[in-house]
Amino acid sequence: MKRVFVAGHKGMVGSAIVRQLAAQKDVELIVRDRKQLNLLNQAEVQTFFENEKIDQVYLAAAKVGGIVANNTYPADFIYENLMIECNIIHSAHMADVNDLVFLGSSCIYPKLAEQPMAENALLTGTLERTNEPYAVAKIAGIKLCESYNRQYGRNYRSVMPTNLYGENDNFHPDNSHVIPALMRRFHEAKLNDTPEVVVWGTGKPMREFLHVDDMAAASIFVANVSQETYESCTEPMLSHINVGTGVDCTIAEMALTMAEVVGYKGQVSFDTTKPDGAPRKLMNVDTLKKLGWAYSIELKDGLESTYDWYMASLKCIRS
Ligand code: GDP
Repeated sequence: MKRVFVAGHKGMVGSAIVRQLAAQKDVELIVRDRKQLNLLNQAEVQTFFENEKIDQVYLAAAKVGGIVANNTYPADFIYENLMIECNIIHSAHMADVNDLVFLGSSCIYPKLAEQPMAENALLTGTLERTNEPYAVAKIAGIKLCESYNRQYGRNYRSVMPTNLYGENDNFHPDNSHVIPALMRRFHEAKLNDTPEVVVWGTGKPMREFLHVDDMAAASIFVANVSQETYESCTEPMLSHINVGTGVDCTIAEMALTMAEVVGYKGQVSFDTTKPDGAPRKLMNVDTLKKLGWAYSIELKDGLESTYDWYMASLKCIRS
């Protein structure tokens, strides 16, 4: 039996990893909620690792939030993320845990990175200002992993997801990403017979979307490829791996698919006074392909299962 610790098991990605690991017979899952283990407390984390004899770690714990939260609480975002990473990665090393996977974010890449964004775009330009403290903490996490590998021969890996969606997403009406925001708006418009749903911006920006179950599968895959294979596909100072589909679509196309999935029959319009954000955000996923992994959940299928989950969470029945 392999003792596997998932840090952040209640979050969107952590909970998806737990669902998949729970089905693996050779895995003994270890999870701790906030009350049992404060990841910001170095002594608590150290004692936990000393006592638990962990074999493998998924570091999916993080303080996350939208643009408003990042702008309002920058100190919390940089402090909490750095502390969680330092405490877990260093304590894992001290307790002789050799295998760890750190979950990052595509916001580590420069604001004007060439598209599709490859792993070697890291630290080649200025970051997006609004979430810079969060991004700096995530870059530090990648560099922590690389440094423990270089100095101590550890096997600490990093995966950088593109825009994720799916179960346990944040469906807040103003403070969520585009997929949960539109799912909720179309759903409420269907229930209320609203003749028109407004989508922010021009609808022209392009985004890549990955279902969280694919992200969990990719993380587990990356965690378990042999060290030889991993090292042959990555460079020593560039050990993070992008996780995405490699395929993008316009916001307008996604919105029309969403209307169909939700069963909304009214008009879809665009509010061009709202910001578009970056014109395109697409990951280069060549490294992951070379390692032997590709996504399997197409956008429409992923939206359908997410909508079923969303309605179950609201206790509605799909019609
Ligand atoms: P981004 O990838 O960091 O820009 O994250 P978002 O998911 O917030 O936005 C992606 C794109 O969807 C942007 O072009 C937004 O203008 C557009 N969009 C359209 N409607 C909405 C909405 O209701 N909420 C959000 N968050 N974005 C929307």
